[in-house]
Amino acid sequence: MNYTSTRNSQITVSASSAIATGISPEGGLFVPQSFPTISEDYIRSLLPLSYAKRAEKVLSLYLTDFTAQEIEECACAAYGEQFDTPAIAPLHDLGDGRHMLELWHGPTCAFKDMALQILPHLMRVSVQKAVPGQETVILVATSGDTGKAALEGFKDASGTRILVFYPQDGVSEMQRLQMVTQEGGNVGVCAIRGNFDDAQTGVKALFTDENVTARLAEKGMRFSSANSINWGRLLPQVAYYVSAYCDMVTSGAVKMGDPINIVVPTGNFGNILAAYYAKRMGLPVAKLICASNRNRVLTDFFETGVYDVTRPFYTTTSPSMDILVSSNLERLLYHLCDEDDTVVAGMMKDLKEKKAYTVPEKVRQRTAETFAAGCATDEQAAAVIRKTWQEKGYLCDTHTAVAVHVYEEYRNKTGDTTPTVIASTANPYKFSPAILEALGEPVSADPFAMQEALFNATKAPVPAPLADLRSKTVRFTDVCDQDIEAMRETVYSLLGI
Ligand SMILES: *Cc1c(COP(=O)(O)O)cnc(C)c1O
Repeated sequence: MNYTSTRNSQITVSASSAIATGISPEGGLFVPQSFPTISEDYIRSLLPLSYAKRAEKVLSLYLTDFTAQEIEECACAAYGEQFDTPAIAPLHDLGDGRHMLELWHGPTCAFKDMALQILPHLMRVSVQKAVPGQETVILVATSGDTGKAALEGFKDASGTRILVFYPQDGVSEMQRLQMVTQEGGNVGVCAIRGNFDDAQTGVKALFTDENVTARLAEKGMRFSSANSINWGRLLPQVAYYVSAYCDMVTSGAVKMGDPINIVVPTGNFGNILAAYYAKRMGLPVAKLICASNRNRVLTDFFETGVYDVTRPFYTTTSPSMDILVSSNLERLLYHLCDEDDTVVAGMMKDLKEKKAYTVPEKVRQRTAETFAAGCATDEQAAAVIRKTWQEKGYLCDTHTAVAVHVYEEYRNKTGDTTPTVIASTANPYKFSPAILEALGEPVSADPFAMQEALFNATKAPVPAPLADLRSKTVRFTDVCDQDIEAMRETVYSLLGI
């Protein structure tokens, strides 16, 4: 199995090379050249297995230049004691055809752990194979959850440094505290004056900045990415959809072979793309439902076939979805354009120069066959949090609530009652003030008072990593401008070069 670039089909690289480098030199994203297929027998063979074993099987279909033992070691190290449940990614049945896929039982309490607990291991093996002897500098732009999950995954990993840029006013207080108190000898964190798109644009520019890459090379260092543009981030996410289907079969929620729908609260389009890949491999999935917050660029895109970022950027109660440029959509477009790199490169050029692009009509039709889309305002998400708590005794976070709202609208509109998996992407305690407000409780500025108040109101257990933040020391207070010069200097200073 080899990988090519969405913007240049002439490029062919191995899995390890795709993971070690992160992004293709001309700016395209690495995609598999074909999709392995999974049969009912294959799914049946996964039923008795642990999450780590299921992940190992799925990964082995794609990581063909890894040995079986390497994949086993990676999966085993990633999906163990650091999760607070042996199920790793359990399904919670709401009893009405909705099944919440809880992806936040890892060390940083958001779904990013599902991939970022394993990525450092995949990276170590990949670098050994593809670019041995080099020190890897992981550069991350975060809308809140990736940064912490990447820091936690890569902290003190040998041969690796990690630098995280986050939007100064774009993350929740809990998310900020998680990052600025990060421990480890190889980590650096800096706030950016700007929003997530500014941070992501700046980081992408750093990746291809010749001054920086040359200075790094002198020191035996090279950049790589832990954002979902990296194939090693995306692939582990395919595994939990396959695993969720197994759990649905085991619990009797579906019969083997019967379809499910999947709803995903979406930002950068990584999580839902992983569900699309699972469907392409033959997992019985009917509709993929893409849920956005008030930044509804994807909702409009699925409606019209026009991706247009010339619109206001809103800061919402679901900050990890406050994104206008959803990087991974490029991969979907590539697959739906019959792998036409020229068409994709043209659309990405339009996006850069005109801030908008239009997909060919056939692509619009194909997206409509597979995807449904919708969006929720903060008020609608809050109403869902209150209602789900009152009616089901189930507490969902602000991002998950967006998905639950969009699904309810979809089901009312279509009458489609296919059993449905809703990706639950964060623990509610990451966003205590917004949750308390949704429940009609008083809110204050102190994050730990809010944690306590949410516990008193719901008795939902506070995850230990969030409770423990109270006693941690703030290590990182730097703020930098969003221009390339300022970010470059920050990289040099954090790396001490
Ligand atoms: C990152 C994130 C999302 C969005 O996921 P994408 O893969 O970027 O679409 C949704 N919810 C939470 C809690 C997240 O951290």
